[in-house]
Amino acid sequence: MDYRIVVHYAELALKGNNRGVFVKKLKQNVKRKIVAMGLGWEVISIHDRMFVKVPQSENGKAQDVANEVARLPGIAWLSLVRWFDEKEYNFLKDRQKHDLTSIHELLEELAKSNYQAGQSFALRVKRSDKNFTKTSQQLAREFASTILEKTAWENVDLKNADQFFYVNISSRGISVHTNKIKATGGLPVSSTGRVLTLLSGGFDSPVAAWLMANRGCNVDFVHFSASHHNTKNIENYKISRIVQKISEVTGRARLFIVPYTHFDMALLEYGLDYDLILFRRFMARVAEKIMSNVYAQALVTGDNLGQVASQTMENINSMNKAIDTPILRPLLTYNKEQIIDVSKSLGLYEVCCEPYKDCCALISKNPRTKSDASALAKMESRYLQNYDELMTDTLAEMTEVIYNFGQFEEINCHNE
Ligand code: ATP
Ligand code: MG
Repeated sequence: MDYRIVVHYAELALKGNNRGVFVKKLKQNVKRKIVAMGLGWEVISIHDRMFVKVPQSENGKAQDVANEVARLPGIAWLSLVRWFDEKEYNFLKDRQKHDLTSIHELLEELAKSNYQAGQSFALRVKRSDKNFTKTSQQLAREFASTILEKTAWENVDLKNADQFFYVNISSRGISVHTNKIKATGGLPVSSTGRVLTLLSGGFDSPVAAWLMANRGCNVDFVHFSASHHNTKNIENYKISRIVQKISEVTGRARLFIVPYTHFDMALLEYGLDYDLILFRRFMARVAEKIMSNVYAQALVTGDNLGQVASQTMENINSMNKAIDTPILRPLLTYNKEQIIDVSKSLGLYEVCCEPYKDCCALISKNPRTKSDASALAKMESRYLQNYDELMTDTLAEMTEVIYNFGQFEEINCHNE
């Protein structure tokens, strides 16, 4: 008996002629994720699903890998099945008297290991090979009897069982699995485009980045920081750990860390109430330069309408007008609780909770909630006359860190 992880596509059935491309991307992502876990398991796609073959010597890792694969965008659900190949077991050899002893034995074992007092179970049998003389209902009854007779399970509930056991019978073999593992749905990363996310040290922007990845985007990141980063301190740095965590499901992710100090210094002496929105326009412009190098098609922020002073409709418009590239804000309409729920479900909450003092020294006591792009442009030409130089100096001190499915890949410090 072999283990297999069977992956069922989300939404891909709807994709018409592009379906092949989406399946190919998903297959690549599943394969790369498994390789990043140090394993070389084979991934095979067939018309409506994909399966991962688990080598017998590595059966013990199958559940962990299945749980990890379930976090990848583009999957509706998956199951960890035990596969009995017809060539090995010859279930169909004697057409009248199919010997299903091995299936009964496995169900008994699974029922025992999944037993929970007071809970109910159900058996689902699907028989695509009609050479089996018994019907699905007959087989389901026989398998259920084994569980009732040989284990402590007592309650059967065909509709709302706590525990399901599935047996699928085909001419190629028989598969058995327990409860389905629900995945995140969406589209496979790398199937819809590339975005650059403005990443801060808070809860919102990592969730925004993940939402874009779950709609099929490759995601890179830019963070504005005051500290200097090198190979030694990068692994412990909160921002890189956030990117590392997100990359566990999004694959290759680049983090560009740039200093905000040049801009900060240039504006500090004036004490403007508009400093925050001026800074956001600066971030957008620097990000746009990076985007042209990495071929990103849109900028993403964690903005949320009305959450703080910088996120009013007026200030959002003023930021949009700073660059030609579209700025996407997937969290614009979310409530804080919804954002926190997603953050927790992604395992990002803990790291995002850690204190982080390194962002936005530029906070005036009275940040303006209303602004106007042409007035801001005038301020920029009056107070920031060397704007291009500020951008060049900022980009010259950029550090680039690359993660791949949660693994650190490399760091390039442009100022070392
Ligand atoms: P978050 O919860 O993501 O930290 P926030 O609630 O602190 O956001 P703001 O500080 O107004 O709100 O930031 C709004 C958005 O601007 C962030 O979601 C992020 O996309 C971007 N941003 C803010 N600070 C930085 C920074 N230091 N570097 C890069 N992007 C930033
Ligand atoms: Mg926020």
